[in-house]
Amino acid sequence: MLERNVVFKDFRDKIRVALVYPNSYTIGMANLGFRILYDLLNSMENVYAERFFLDFNKSLETKSELKEFEIIAFTWQFELDALNILDILYRNKIPLRRDRRKQVVIVGGPCAVNPYPLKKFVDFFFIGEAEENLVSFINDFSRGGDIYSLSKIEGVYSSELDNYTRKVYVSDLDRYHPIKQIMSPEAALGESFLLEVSRGCGRGCRFCMSGYTFRPQRERSFERLQEIADRGIEACASRKISLIGASASDYPRIEDLCEYLSARGVGLSIPSLRADSLTEPIVEALVKTGQRSLTLAPESNWRLRTLVNKPIEDEDILRAYKMSIDRGIKNIKLYLMVGIPTETSEDLNELVGLIKELKKISGRVRLSVNPLIPKPHTPFQWLGLEKLSDLREKIEVLKKARVQMEVEDLKMAHIQATISLGDEGLSDILEKAYFYGKGLGAFRRAFKEEGVEFDYYIRGRDTSEILPWEKIDVGVKKSFLIREFKKSFKGEVTSICREGCRVCGVC
Ligand code: SF4
Repeated sequence: MLERNVVFKDFRDKIRVALVYPNSYTIGMANLGFRILYDLLNSMENVYAERFFLDFNKSLETKSELKEFEIIAFTWQFELDALNILDILYRNKIPLRRDRRKQVVIVGGPCAVNPYPLKKFVDFFFIGEAEENLVSFINDFSRGGDIYSLSKIEGVYSSELDNYTRKVYVSDLDRYHPIKQIMSPEAALGESFLLEVSRGCGRGCRFCMSGYTFRPQRERSFERLQEIADRGIEACASRKISLIGASASDYPRIEDLCEYLSARGVGLSIPSLRADSLTEPIVEALVKTGQRSLTLAPESNWRLRTLVNKPIEDEDILRAYKMSIDRGIKNIKLYLMVGIPTETSEDLNELVGLIKELKKISGRVRLSVNPLIPKPHTPFQWLGLEKLSDLREKIEVLKKARVQMEVEDLKMAHIQATISLGDEGLSDILEKAYFYGKGLGAFRRAFKEEGVEFDYYIRGRDTSEILPWEKIDVGVKKSFLIREFKKSFKGEVTSICREGCRVCGVC
C-alpha cells in the first residue's frame, strides 16, 4: 500500500484504539471524519490509533489483530454499515453483545443519532462532533473511568444507562483542521488533501439528516482556509484539493477560494455543489485545474422540490447544466429521488420533460435514482417508506427519458429504512439477519422469528407517537420538525438559516 503520512508509534505503553471504517478502504480513506479521528487520537501522547477497514482484517499500521485493542471505535456513516460493524466484530472473534466482551466498542458518525438498532452491541455512542469530547473520553478511560463517569461527558450516550444525551458541536471551526492527512492513491478521491470549508447546512431540505443534525451552519474564515491549504499541500505533498462541506458552493467566498487554489497550481474538486449557487468562476476554476465531472441533485420536479424545501427553479438547473457543459465539464451526474409524499405520475412526467431538456444540451444524461429514506431527527421522520412495488413503477416512468440510469437496490432500501427508523428491538433482528446472510430474505426470516411484522419499522407514524430516538437531543425542537412536516404538504417553503434566527432551537 503506497501511503504517506501514516503515524507509527511504539504501542507498548499506549492506549490502543482501533479506528474502524466499516466499509471499504477506498471509501473510508476519502472520509474527512475518519481523517480527523486519526489525527486527533494520534495527537494524544498516550494513545495509538490504528486503522481497520472491512477489507483489512489486521491494522494497517502494525498488522495487529482487532482483539488486541482496548477500544474499538467505529464511524457509522451509512445505515447499512450497521451489518458491516457486526461482521467485523464477528470475523475478528469479538463477542457481539456488549455484556460478553472485555473490549469497549464505541460508535460515532452521522448515524449515531439513532443508536438504538445497535444498542445491544455498542457500549458508547458519540452524539455530534467528536472533536468536542473524544479526548476527554479517552483521558477518563485511561484513568479507569466507569460507565457513570464516561456517560457524564457531554455528547456521550451509554447503552447501559440509556442516558438523555445532547449533541455537542464545534462552535469555532477555525480552531482545528487536520493538516498531515494520509495520502493514498487508492482512496476514492485519490491523493487529495481534504479541505473542509464549512460544516452543517442552513438550507433545511426536509429529507436530509445532516441538514438537521449538523446545525448550525458554520464556516471557516477565508484566511484560515488559505493557511490550512498552504500547510496541507506541503505536509501531504498533494497536488489536489477537495473542498468539503454540505454544499461547498454556498461558501460566501467560494470564488475567491477557487481562484486562490487554482493559482497554487493544485487540482480542485468539489464533490457537493448546488445548481443555484454554481457560478461561472467556480466551473472555470474546476475545469482549469483538471476536473471534468460534477454532480448536481435536482431531486424531482419543481412542485416536489418545494415540498422537500429545496426550491431550486428548473431555470437554475438548466442554466447550471448548460454553463458547466459549455465551460468544458464532460460528465454530469444528476441525483433524483422517488417516493416523495404526494408524488404523482404527472410529477414524474414533468421530471422526464426536464431530463429531456438537459439531454438536448449535452447529448447524454447520467442519472442516479434513489428512494426517499425517512431519517430520524428530520421533518420526514414520521413518513413511512413507500411500497417497493410503487417505487418500481415510478422508476419505470423515469425510464421514458431514455438516458443512462443507475437505480439503488430497492430491497436494500427497505433494510436501510428499517435501520434508519429502528429501535432497540431491532438489535436482535439485525443479529439474526446477519447470520442468515444479510439480504432481504434473511431479514424476513429474522423478523418472523422475532414475531415482528416485516414492515413494522418502515410504517408511517403519527406525530403524537413517542419516537425511539427522542432521548437523543440534536438541538432541533420537535415542535419545529412537526411544523416543517405539515408545511411540506402545503408546499410551503422555510427560508434558510440567517443571523439572529432562533426558529429551530439550535442557535
Ligand atoms: S435557529 Fe435558525 S439559524 Fe439556527 S440552525 Fe435553526 S433555523 Fe438555522
